[in-house]
Amino acid sequence: MDDKTLTCDVLIVGGGPAGLSVASTLPDDVRTVLVHQDHEIGLPVRTSGGCWMQDVERLGIPADMYIRINTSEAFADDAHTRIPMGDAVPVILDTPKLYKWLAQQSDQKDRTLLLGTKFLSTRQRDDGLYESTIRARDTAYDCVVSKYIVDGSGWHFAVLDSLGLAPKPERLAVGTEYEYPLGENAPDRGIIFVGEKVPAGYGWVFSTGRDTLRIGVGVIQPDTDESPRDLLDAVIKDKPYLERLGLKLDGEPVVHSGILPSVAYDDRLVFGNVVRVGDAANFATPTVGEGIRICIELGRLLGEQLGKAVKTGQRGPLETYERLCRGKLKRDYKWGFLVNTRAAKYTRDKWNASVRRMGRVEPEAIVATLRGEFPIVKIARMAWAMVRRRIYARVQRLKSRLGLA
Ligand SMILES: Cc1cc2nc3c(=O)[nH]c(=O)nc-3n(C[C@H](O)[C@H](O)[C@H](O)COP(=O)(O)OP(=O)(O)OC[C@H]3O[C@@H](n4cnc5c(N)ncnc54)[C@H](O)[C@@H]3O)c2cc1C
Repeated sequence: MDDKTLTCDVLIVGGGPAGLSVASTLPDDVRTVLVHQDHEIGLPVRTSGGCWMQDVERLGIPADMYIRINTSEAFADDAHTRIPMGDAVPVILDTPKLYKWLAQQSDQKDRTLLLGTKFLSTRQRDDGLYESTIRARDTAYDCVVSKYIVDGSGWHFAVLDSLGLAPKPERLAVGTEYEYPLGENAPDRGIIFVGEKVPAGYGWVFSTGRDTLRIGVGVIQPDTDESPRDLLDAVIKDKPYLERLGLKLDGEPVVHSGILPSVAYDDRLVFGNVVRVGDAANFATPTVGEGIRICIELGRLLGEQLGKAVKTGQRGPLETYERLCRGKLKRDYKWGFLVNTRAAKYTRDKWNASVRRMGRVEPEAIVATLRGEFPIVKIARMAWAMVRRRIYARVQRLKSRLGLA
């Protein structure tokens, strides 16, 4: 072992919301190394930052890290509706600021954060420890020896792939976003657009609270071969379409792009002393690909349980993490994935009908679908409300036919 080797209890690969949240709840004296291939936490931007007020409050995210969206609208080729949100309030996170804040939560701990450092591979030695090869531009370190490894590398599955523990996801949601000056556009409006402009995907528009507005497109590959950037360029060039969306885009945009897995949820998260979290564990909702709040919540849970595992040497805490994640996500994500695969094949007419329906159904049902939540009681209540509406409509029709209305 040379002076280019770091030794620790836990190696965390990836400084996104998941990896940073794990580090934030590990006990202060657990020796941790976090390697992050980007040169700055939170940059470049690879996500949109949509979330919900109820979650940012629950997770203790400071109020200067998000803005609220007061009007939500959906557009299909021949349909447009205001999305009824009821009491739910969508918010847009300032992700560079939020991720830096998440990183600060472990600044006082025995944690070494290596930026601009890429995890390359790992192997388990005869003594059970993992010897991981890393590459940093400053070449200060090239090896980390650890008892545990957390794969928080997002869709890269960097650790899982290196050890052959899980295949890299073959179905991916790929997104591109342009950030423009806000100009005359509304500062609190969110839009979803679907249909022929975005096959096997959807588009979005919202203001950021930093005097800018983002417009983006995400598609599922290989369900479509189209590139999100080409689709987005076609939207931007289509002035009548932008007018229909009520948008005025001026100036040079900043470009963001990102990728996340879009595969069925796999509840195996623990492989001996290797644990996965975040997008590497497919935590984003299958309905709209919203992952940040779930990565923070379950990342914190992993930090707590892993801390107990390090202290006691027991397997139980990691099993608890796996079990609690399964309980929280497995059933909802099964339903959500069904919605995802069906929607990926929607035609123009189906999207038109779907957007028209959005304006009519209970806010609770829309919000649950957007959040990827399908509890049995809620589904039963939604189905009953639908049946009641249909019976009422039939009775009204019958009454008017009989001249009783
Ligand atoms: C276009 C798009 C829009 C989205 N919009 C939303 C949204 O509106 N709301 C929402 O909640 N979620 C959204 N998501 C999903 C959300 O961004 C993810 O669920 C979330 O970022 C996952 O966090 P993570 O920490 O698991 O992974 P990531 O955020 O991907 O972070 C992993 C980090 O690990 C680093 N890394 C990877 N490999 C290595 C390696 N070998 N060595 C070192 N570092 C490595 C990467 O550079 C990366 O920064 C969106 C995703 C995309 C792609």
